[in-house]
Amino acid sequence: MTTDKPMLRILVTGAAGFLGSSLVDFLLQKDHIVIGLDNLTTGSPANLRHLENHPGFTFVNQDICSLLDRHQEIDQIYNLACPASPVQYQRAPVSTLNTCFHGTQNLLELAKNRNIRILHTSTSEVYGDPLTHPQPETYWGNVNPFGPRSCYDEGKRVAEALCYAYREQYNLDIRIAHIFNTYGPRMSSQDGRVISNFIVSALSGNALNIYGDGLATRSFQYVTDCLEGLYRLMNSGYDAGPVNIGNDKEFTIREAADLVIELVSEMTNKPRATVAFLPKPLDDPSVRRPQVSLAKRELGWEAVVPLRDGLRKTIQWHMDQQGSAK
Ligand code: NAD
Ligand code: UDP
Repeated sequence: MTTDKPMLRILVTGAAGFLGSSLVDFLLQKDHIVIGLDNLTTGSPANLRHLENHPGFTFVNQDICSLLDRHQEIDQIYNLACPASPVQYQRAPVSTLNTCFHGTQNLLELAKNRNIRILHTSTSEVYGDPLTHPQPETYWGNVNPFGPRSCYDEGKRVAEALCYAYREQYNLDIRIAHIFNTYGPRMSSQDGRVISNFIVSALSGNALNIYGDGLATRSFQYVTDCLEGLYRLMNSGYDAGPVNIGNDKEFTIREAADLVIELVSEMTNKPRATVAFLPKPLDDPSVRRPQVSLAKRELGWEAVVPLRDGLRKTIQWHMDQQGSAK
């Protein structure tokens, strides 16, 4: 058994999503008891099907914006419920804002009533289109409050303000993660984020659509690194403010496209896919890279999976999905 604290009862919201379902597995492997809650807007029951008969897991189909207090005893909460792909969170921006504000407040109330710790997953999007590079946690960001991304960016910012307010007013035990672009198995082929889009296109022999000139950058973190970072943050004594959970290796979108093309061709023995250029979306951040010294110091953690290795695993997962759908 490898648990820091044996047999905690942990509520994970957003449990049917890409990160949430992976976190559920991670916590069950550490012998915790997990209650997974999700309203299945962007998540899929398929991500949890393998746990149908798991004695340590319960699934609750519910929106975090509705009353939460009736659930069984819990010791910790990880709040991951929120669409994270720009395509998805812009589909219903009012609901995205509601999830960020009312949903997060419901969970903070639950944590307050039970006197338990809550980890809220915030995002590098709170830095907006950053004017400081790389981004330390002390950077306040450059966010457009009145644009297509603001439902998510400002939603996540107000959720952080709520966490702060609950800590100040009620002495609530909070943790906040600034997660940077994370990819891996279980990010749906329909999700719309760049890595899954590129892999789906390359596997089907279509051109990879690059929005803009391909010179925008992101720092891609493999899912297992992210989970370890979240777990360490939850179980750390650090509650002074948000902690960046990301990989500080930065790639242009063109470099990411070329790498996916190379690996898919190598893994399938098919000709290399091509790229096509489409207009850059409004307010799309031009650079993003975490400063990771705080996580190293406070959590003894840093991302270790190279993009090439994580991409291979993710491509293989998509190939397996396509294979099992036939
Ligand atoms: P995802 O869309 O795969 O998962 C989100 C899950 O939350 C889905 O299962 C969805 O059905 C559920 N959900 C959404 N609104 C809900 C609501 N009101 N009530 C209950 N469930 C709801 O996205 P993900 O990549 O797994 O992201 C998980 C969390 O991590 C999000 O909060 C996101 O903001 C944060 N995050 C992710 C990344 C990343 O790169 N993956 C980066 C920064 C932050
Ligand atoms: N992007 C792209 N092609 C796609 C999807 C995204 O070129 O099919 C670009 C997008 O414009 C952005 C970067 O890739 O510059 C990362 O986009 P994603 O939606 O994955 O995440 P976010 O913008 O939230 O960091």
